[in-house]
Amino acid sequence: MHAQRTLRRSISCAGIGLHSGKKVTLSLKPAPADYGIRFRRADLGGLEVAATVQHVGGINYATGLTRDAVKVDTVEHLLAALVSLGIDNAVVELNSPEVPIMDGSAAPFIYLIHEAGVKQLGASRKYLKVVRPMSLTRGDKRIALYPSDHFKVTYSIAFDHPLLRHQSRTLRITPQSFVEEIAPARTFTFLKEVEMLRQQGLALGGSLENAVVIGDTGVLNNALRFDDEFVRHKILDVIGDMALVGCPIIGHLVAHRGGHALHTAFAAQVRDDVEAWTLVDSPVEKADDSVAVPVKSGLRAVN
Ligand SMILES: [Zn+2]
Repeated sequence: MHAQRTLRRSISCAGIGLHSGKKVTLSLKPAPADYGIRFRRADLGGLEVAATVQHVGGINYATGLTRDAVKVDTVEHLLAALVSLGIDNAVVELNSPEVPIMDGSAAPFIYLIHEAGVKQLGASRKYLKVVRPMSLTRGDKRIALYPSDHFKVTYSIAFDHPLLRHQSRTLRITPQSFVEEIAPARTFTFLKEVEMLRQQGLALGGSLENAVVIGDTGVLNNALRFDDEFVRHKILDVIGDMALVGCPIIGHLVAHRGGHALHTAFAAQVRDDVEAWTLVDSPVEKADDSVAVPVKSGLRAVN
């Protein structure tokens, strides 16, 4: 049996929203057992929206949550960091409608969680253990979950671009593997899409400081963090989107050419398909019970 976790203390950072371009202060705060992860809008008198599939709204190049008058955009990278480090309960307070993009990856959020520290709570965590395959196909996009003893992700992407034809990766997700292999992978976009996004009022805060931009002959940024940074970022996105199921998953997630719309539709399908999973107190294997948060060396402080 594993105890639920929250943050040891509150911590804040500031940044801008990728799509809104607006300045935002983000605070991560401890929360009690069974509270889950909730986004709170300090600028709307503290109204909250829970990070669950019931509240998904506004999928447009990022995952948004809405409840009544509350709206929070681009939640996926922060959610991926929280769930991958085993944070079950937290308040995410914002004074603007969009989570800051930071450097386009989840690494700054890992740093924040590390600085806040992690605390165990006096209640057991429930895992969603997959017992029957589930899948969702839309055109050439597909996502599925299969029974497995661990949470594992296989992602493959294919684009009609000379620099990015096909990438595929499978990784068992642990706090350590997430921090080292996935968290640093940045958002990416194609240069020819940037103008189109701006015309739609999106990516207003986007720059080479927070996204990898792929031109016709190469990336416009100085360097990639991994040769296959693109597919690693897709793994980051799908972990964050599937976090909306509401508890950690034990199963093998396999996705091909997905995006936020497919990921979140599948998260809702999984939540509803109660015959295909069971809630268990702990993974089959004896998992690492340490509460220390691994930190990738060389991470710089966020500003
Ligand atoms: Zn992303």
